[in-house]
Amino acid sequence: MDRMSGNPGLVDVLIVGAGPAGSAAAIHAAEAGHEVLLLDAAVFPRDKTCGDGLTPRAIHQLGRLGLAEAVTSSYHNRGLKLHGFGGSVTAPWPEGHYGTLGSAMPRTEFDHLLVRTAVERGATLWEGATATGVEFAGPRVDAVTVRHGGVEKQVRPRWLLVADGVRSTFGKLLGRQWHRGEVYGIAARSYCASPMSDEPWIHSHVELRDAEGTVQPGYGWIFPLGDGRVNLGAGALSTDARPAKVNTKKLLSHYATQRREEWQLGPEQDVASALLPMGGAVSDVAGANWMLIGDSAALVNPLNGEGIDYGMESAEMAVELLRPGRDLTLVWPHLLRETYGEAFLLARTAARLLTYPQFLPAVGPLGLRGPVGAMVMPAAARLMGNLVADDDRDLIARAWRLAGAAVSRVRRDTPLWATTA
Ligand SMILES: Cc1cc2nc3c(=O)[nH]c(=O)nc-3n(C[C@H](O)[C@H](O)[C@H](O)COP(=O)(O)OP(=O)(O)OC[C@H]3O[C@@H](n4cnc5c(N)ncnc54)[C@H](O)[C@@H]3O)c2cc1C
Repeated sequence: MDRMSGNPGLVDVLIVGAGPAGSAAAIHAAEAGHEVLLLDAAVFPRDKTCGDGLTPRAIHQLGRLGLAEAVTSSYHNRGLKLHGFGGSVTAPWPEGHYGTLGSAMPRTEFDHLLVRTAVERGATLWEGATATGVEFAGPRVDAVTVRHGGVEKQVRPRWLLVADGVRSTFGKLLGRQWHRGEVYGIAARSYCASPMSDEPWIHSHVELRDAEGTVQPGYGWIFPLGDGRVNLGAGALSTDARPAKVNTKKLLSHYATQRREEWQLGPEQDVASALLPMGGAVSDVAGANWMLIGDSAALVNPLNGEGIDYGMESAEMAVELLRPGRDLTLVWPHLLRETYGEAFLLARTAARLLTYPQFLPAVGPLGLRGPVGAMVMPAAARLMGNLVADDDRDLIARAWRLAGAAVSRVRRDTPLWATTA
C-alpha cells in the first residue's frame, strides 16, 4: 500500500519521470525527509535510447547517491581513445575533482538500479503512470492529473519536479519551449556482441563518414559494457540553418561495418535513434513551485551528448532549493546559468563550428596526428567531457573558464533557460 492512499492526493514532492534525473531527485528528496511520489509512464526495467556511457562526472554524482560501486564493480574504464584522420590519441580520465573512473551500463539496468534505490530510500513509485494535465492556482501548480491503472487521479503537490526527458510532453504543458535554432544532436545506438567487451577504454571516431564518403559533423562511438557486448552508435550535430542531412541508423550501420573486423562485432541489435536538445537551449523551466531537471531542461553536453551526469546533478541542486515560501521562478534558471551557462555556451559555440562542413576535415588531421595531437587531444578530451570543476586550478581549467566567460559576454542573445512567461 502506498503512502498516498490514505490522503486525498496531497504530497510534498511530486516527480514526473523516473530516468536518472527523476530517480536521483527522489533519492535526494526522500533523504532530506520529504514525502515523495515518483511516477513514470513506463514500467521498469525499461530501455532508453542512449550510449550508456558514464564519465567520471557521472560516477562522482553516483557516489553522492551511494551507488558508485554498484555501477563500477562490474565494469569500469580509464578514459577515451579518439580516432580519425589517420591518427589515434589516448586520453586517460584526468586527475581532479571527479576522479579517474568511468563506466558504462545498459540503461535497462542503470535506470532500474536508480528507481529501486529511490523506493528503498522511501519514495513511493507509481509505474505505468502518465502525467497528463496540470492546474494552476495563480503562479503555483496546484494539481497534476495522472492516468494510472486506467484511472485518472489528481495529485496536489507542494513542489513539482519535472524530469520527463527530451520531448518533455508534460513540461510543454507548463510552457517549456525548445529553441531549435541552436545546435542539437541526432543519434542512433545499437548493441553488438564483442569479445572485446572488457576493454577498459571507450572509443570515439571523429572522422565519421557516410556511405558516400562525406565527413559528417559528429562522431561514432564504441562503449564496452563488460557483459559481452558493446554499445555502438553514431551521432551528428545539426542546426536549423545547417541540418545534418543524414539517416543516423544508416550511418550507424555503415560505422559498424567499418569497425566489425577490429572488434569482432556481432550484428547490430536493438537499433534506436533519438534527438538531443542540448546546452540549455530551452526556456521557461521553472515556476513558483516547480522546476524542470535533466533532459527536459536540455542539460546535455553539446560536445559529447552526455546528460546522465547533468540529470543527476540538477536533481540534487533542485532538491536543495525546496524551502517553504521560496518562489523558484527565477531562482532555478539563475542557478542553472551560474552552474552550466559558461561551459554550455562555449561547448555550443564549438559544436556549431563542427556543423560547418569544411571545419572537421581541416582541423581533424592536425588534432589527431603527430606530436601536436598527442599534446593537445588529452586536454581537448577533458574539455569535451566538461571534466573541469570550480576547484581545479591547473592551466587548462583556468583557460577553459576564461574562454567560457569571454563567450558568454559575446553571445548574450543566446537563450539559456530564459524566462518568457
Ligand atoms: C543516442 C543517444 C546517446 C546518448 N548517450 C549518452 C551517453 O553515453 N552518456 C550520457 O550521459 N548521456 C547520453 N545520452 C543522453 C542521456 O540519454 C540523457 O541525458 C538522459 O537519459 C537524461 O535523463 P532524464 O532522467 O532527464 O530523462 P530520461 O532518461 O529520458 O527519463 C525520462 C522519463 O520520463 C518518463 N516520462 C515522460 N513523460 C512522462 C509523463 N508525462 N508522465 C510520466 N512519465 C513520463 C519516461 O518514461 C522516462 O522514463 C544519449 C542520448 C541519446 C539520444
